Amino acid sequence: MLLTIEINEQQVSAKRGETILTVLNRIGVKVPTLCYLSSLSPTGACRMCVVEVEGLPHLVPACSHQVEEWMQIHTHSPRVLKARKNIVELLLANHPDDCLYCDRNGTCELQGLSEELQIRERKYISRQKPVQIDKACPSIQRDPAKCVLCGRCSRVCKEIIGVAAIDSVGRGSNTRIGTSYNRGLNFNACVKCGQCIIACPTGALTERKSLPQVIEALGDPGLYPVVQFSPTVPAAIAEEFGLKSNKDILNLLRYALKRIGFRQSFDISLASDINLTEEAAIFLERLQGNKNLPMFTSCCPAWVRYIDIFHPQFSPKLSPVKSPQQIMGTLIKKYITSSAGIKPEKVFVVSVMPCTAKKAEAEYDSEGIRPVDAVITVRELVRLIGLLGIDFDKLEPEPNDTAFNMSSSSGRLFGISGGHLEGLMRSINFLSTGQDLNPGKINELRGLKPRKEAKIRINKIPLNVIAVSGLANAIELMDEIENGRDNIHIVEVMACVNGCINGGGMKIGSDEKNLKARMKALYDADEEEMVKVAHKNPVLTELYEKFLSKPNSPGNQEILWKGNSKSQEL
Ligand code: SF4
Ligand code: SF4
Repeated sequence: MLLTIEINEQQVSAKRGETILTVLNRIGVKVPTLCYLSSLSPTGACRMCVVEVEGLPHLVPACSHQVEEWMQIHTHSPRVLKARKNIVELLLANHPDDCLYCDRNGTCELQGLSEELQIRERKYISRQKPVQIDKACPSIQRDPAKCVLCGRCSRVCKEIIGVAAIDSVGRGSNTRIGTSYNRGLNFNACVKCGQCIIACPTGALTERKSLPQVIEALGDPGLYPVVQFSPTVPAAIAEEFGLKSNKDILNLLRYALKRIGFRQSFDISLASDINLTEEAAIFLERLQGNKNLPMFTSCCPAWVRYIDIFHPQFSPKLSPVKSPQQIMGTLIKKYITSSAGIKPEKVFVVSVMPCTAKKAEAEYDSEGIRPVDAVITVRELVRLIGLLGIDFDKLEPEPNDTAFNMSSSSGRLFGISGGHLEGLMRSINFLSTGQDLNPGKINELRGLKPRKEAKIRINKIPLNVIAVSGLANAIELMDEIENGRDNIHIVEVMACVNGCINGGGMKIGSDEKNLKARMKALYDADEEEMVKVAHKNPVLTELYEKFLSKPNSPGNQEILWKGNSKSQEL
């Protein structure tokens, strides 16, 4: 039902039950927010979005206050502006003055608010004791001194990721965001997804930086630095530098990586093809023996850790195959570069990932020679490109110079929720029938819905498959399975909503438009690519002949299977 309200003396229609902020956003009146994120439940805690409603004694938070018939609202009255300014001044009282040294310099919302509200001096000085930076986790760093207690991180962690690894502790002026027993992020239920970093408006949560290590390796004449990148990276880089996300961007990225100093660059999608080939064989064996079904995919390290912590009874259902990152690192060190006479210990493999959990994965899966030596996020790569003065507008595309960059488009689809599953169904069908899946494009598994289900008939057997993204959305599915739902064959879970295209290592402040562009780039690549099934990748044939054994054979387990997925600190 429609109501009429008045905003800044203009009559506006609004729906009953809408918040004031929803109406303001719709009509293009901008009020600042801090604790509010559209994907989370509003709390009105920071009061940054306060507005004046005639007849009410106090200012009200627009994010959580609902419209009422004939409400007269003033969004930028002197009283409102004074209140907002005072809120920021109080936040700044507890904030260190170190913008120049902060990771979020230029993207910090507190900095932006301070500028918007014309704050030019420190009004209040607090006597807060210095607090220790939490560096326990290999993926994420917490600096409580920069926390403005907006609660966005804890709500993302609870509502979207479903693990509540961080939360408010203490009361009144002692309130802070903490981890259980204050032991640090590495020693609790944190799955390292990095969604809290994306949500945080300040530099209180950042990824653990691997750039210094990478820069050192690039300058070490005794090392052979190479780089591997996720299929989501080209589109993300195109977005950062205002370029079209077409075929050329891959070649431009290759050139930029060469200019950075990497001797070779590899698209990880070849390793995704190996992952699919192994998983298809493993699934068919499980299906035949009716064992450990539904099979859970295991390419997302945050999901694997979630199972370890919250549902260890389901561990046998996880695919034992390593993630593409770890497979590609092994392939580079033990086959590609060693075939060229370079000793594995001299090869320094850097991954560029949309994900922070990959940093922990590389560290924990490091028995013997580490497959991956350092993982940088897309954000870190953008910084490296800037640091080395590389101007994307002036780059010439670098053609691919190695067969090990050949992959099927299924391998590239890993970047989006449902994509791994779509590729796996193509491989299972090919392995069972020797034919291409018809239709190869599985529409039910496409798009930005958090849960997607499809029924696919392969060799006359109807298979039910489900793709879920956002770990909190997996809880319901886990309950269904726990409560006896036994007609599901394969489950793909990605910790971040929509999968890697929305990973914790991507650009801060990405919106739905960005996600759609990243998704489109992956689906377009699938349309354009001739080889759509992992099994048809010709390089795979060579690898299985010369380096690996038959899919799902004991010979491959040592190279391609996870040793102990519980190897992460708890
Ligand atoms: S990384 Fe993910 S699981 Fe860990 S605290 Fe942040 S949001 Fe929660
Ligand atoms: S750590 Fe960041 S997101 Fe979490 S409460 Fe503090 S400022 Fe907000």
